[in-house]
Amino acid sequence: MTVTRVRMCDGWTYAPARLAPLLGEHAEDLPPGLVRCELGAHASGPHHVYVADLDGRETGAIWAAWQSGDPLALTVLPDCPCKNGQPGVQEEVCCFFAGHSGPCSWDVRDPRSP
Ligand SMILES: [Zn+2]
Ligand SMILES: [Zn+2]
Repeated sequence: MTVTRVRMCDGWTYAPARLAPLLGEHAEDLPPGLVRCELGAHASGPHHVYVADLDGRETGAIWAAWQSGDPLALTVLPDCPCKNGQPGVQEEVCCFFAGHSGPCSWDVRDPRSP
């Protein structure tokens, strides 16, 4: 089976100082205070970085969103309902939000990790 994976988005912005510790776990390779979009490369629409899950089932998660050149805005978004359709343990649930730009998370490749 050939897997085509899309490069992770290159969008980045500055995180407010009080938010940086929350966002930092996704940006080990970036200088402190910078965050990077977690979506696959997308042509338009805001960039997004995951912040935290909300308690309870199907309550969605907190995401920080921004347009190039604008500050971060926090938003609560429902989870993406997509699954990759693979059987058993190979099944993956998309870890993005419903209606995200670009492909689902299993098709996104971080060029900075092996
Ligand atoms: Zn992006
Ligand atoms: Zn998805």
